[in-house]
Amino acid sequence: MHCPFCAAVDTKVIDSRLVGDGSQVRRRRQCLDCNERFTTFEVAELVMPRIIKSNEIREPFDEEKLRRGMLKALEKRPVNSDDIEMSISHIKSQLRATGEREVSASMVGNLVMEALKKLDKVAYIRFASVYRSFEDIREFGEEIAKLQD
Ligand SMILES: [Zn+2]
Repeated sequence: MHCPFCAAVDTKVIDSRLVGDGSQVRRRRQCLDCNERFTTFEVAELVMPRIIKSNEIREPFDEEKLRRGMLKALEKRPVNSDDIEMSISHIKSQLRATGEREVSASMVGNLVMEALKKLDKVAYIRFASVYRSFEDIREFGEEIAKLQD
């Protein structure tokens, strides 16, 4: 592929390895002209179910939106990017595994909560408090208490 720094036509792969659960390939490339290095990720393109929002509107699954939501919850938390990417690809494979053409946004929300619970409990609480908009402080407290078990 072309060099993103100098647009030279030829770059060479200097390292290639599987990342996450093995569903991605990470490649380090080097430009033969300017010698800059960069990384590419290769993933299989598979059909994701469409998302049914609470107002019944359907929209395509948006991985970037999912990632933004998770990163916001994980802001300034000690969680490494590889683990986050692995979670995202796990959520996507769970969605594909449903075999459904359409799934509800709340199902996606629940998968994100499950993933965050494993990654970082503070991020989980942040996400859950926005996503579920806890009715009252007691419910919020119960959720935190459950985490401490
Ligand atoms: Zn270059």
